Amino acid sequence: MKFTLPRGTRDILYPEIILWQQIEDTARRIFSVYNYREVRTPIFEETELFERSMGESSDVVQKQMLNLASQRVDADGKPLLSGFSLRPEGTAAVVRSYIQNNLYKKERISKFFYIGPMFRGERPQKGRLRQFHQIGVEVIGANTASPYLDAEVIALSVGLLKSFGLKMFKLKINTLGSSSDKNKFSGILRSLLEPKISLLCDDCQQRFDRNVFRVLDCKNKGCREVVNSLDIDYGYLSEGSIRYYEEVKTILKDLGIEFEESMSLVRGLDYYTHIVFEIASDSLGSQDALGAGGRYNNLVYELGGPQVDAVGFALGIERILLAGSYEENTITSHIDCFIISMQSVGLRQAFILLNELRSNGICCDLGYIGGSIKSQMRMANKAGARFVIIFGEEEVRNNEITVKDMNDSSQERISLSKVLQYLKEKL
Ligand code: AMP
Repeated sequence: MKFTLPRGTRDILYPEIILWQQIEDTARRIFSVYNYREVRTPIFEETELFERSMGESSDVVQKQMLNLASQRVDADGKPLLSGFSLRPEGTAAVVRSYIQNNLYKKERISKFFYIGPMFRGERPQKGRLRQFHQIGVEVIGANTASPYLDAEVIALSVGLLKSFGLKMFKLKINTLGSSSDKNKFSGILRSLLEPKISLLCDDCQQRFDRNVFRVLDCKNKGCREVVNSLDIDYGYLSEGSIRYYEEVKTILKDLGIEFEESMSLVRGLDYYTHIVFEIASDSLGSQDALGAGGRYNNLVYELGGPQVDAVGFALGIERILLAGSYEENTITSHIDCFIISMQSVGLRQAFILLNELRSNGICCDLGYIGGSIKSQMRMANKAGARFVIIFGEEEVRNNEITVKDMNDSSQERISLSKVLQYLKEKL
């Protein structure tokens, strides 16, 4: 085999693809119930957009960006696509699009959803790919920093996971406070960590200067011990931030949504302020996050737009599938009718009938490659056919067909001209 797929990517084939389609269809249905509209942005954008939004010190920007550049040059002699990267996440592009299309002038509140591939230069392992897929939402608009909207997106993310059939997952929430609370907190954190810096892993020693919050959610055992020994409380939060957080929690309780509070939940990206949340599954091992999100009230402004508030989340489809441990052999697909014909006779009539049935919305297929009735019957079974139509020699001679009901194996002979009517009545 000369060509193989790139490391950290996957082909999604039948029958697994049926699960993907079910997840996407369910998500679209739920998004329309919640009145969110789909947005599709390019899969690559200016690298600087991601650097500015996620923060230059974030792990994704530091270690995982997949930059593009072609050998071809543009009219100015610069390599085509230099300065562009494959998108590692969805938020930055949605915000770019919101600003570029002046949506803040057109609507008070914009509620987006997206479904699509994201790309990160990760070391591939179970549940961690270089091309993976996210279902995400962003709610953006002036003066929309309402705890009810935080609760809405959290309820939406939990509702999606439940409707995908997942039961065993945990929602964790935290607040980072406003930007100035965050600044205060980073100062406090540095002073608490400074005496213990030598006990931190190499990554966290660098994070200490660049993005000290990340030390809190490092998975390294030594770092966990250091973090657990810290005496952290919410003293750095302003009254307004505390009130906001309390309101979100009260609304979640009103909705019967269970959650756990976790002060070490900080999210790795610079843009979050106030509420952050993560949903993890017990069944996933080290890559246990099904999805995550939070509020980001300053990002639109920082990317050149007006000062408007925003909140969003993203769920990973591959992780949802892993957590659901759906069994491939339980995935079934069905067609209404499979037509069997002997190559020597009847193929022409069979093909005409196939097209007539299809143009009347009946889902059907034909045993094009011929073979014995028995082998075509196996094809019909594999396709999950409800009815099988047989064009044998005798049937063709009499302008008839035999129709077999696969539910009870009963058979009858009917005139070719009545097939459509017959199937319409039975299906
Ligand atoms: P993040 O923006 O890193 O919080 O990602 C949101 C969600 O996307 C995660 O909770 C995962 O479900 C999924 N995800 C992120 N990175 C990957 C990856 N490399 N491979 C598979 N899924 C991922």
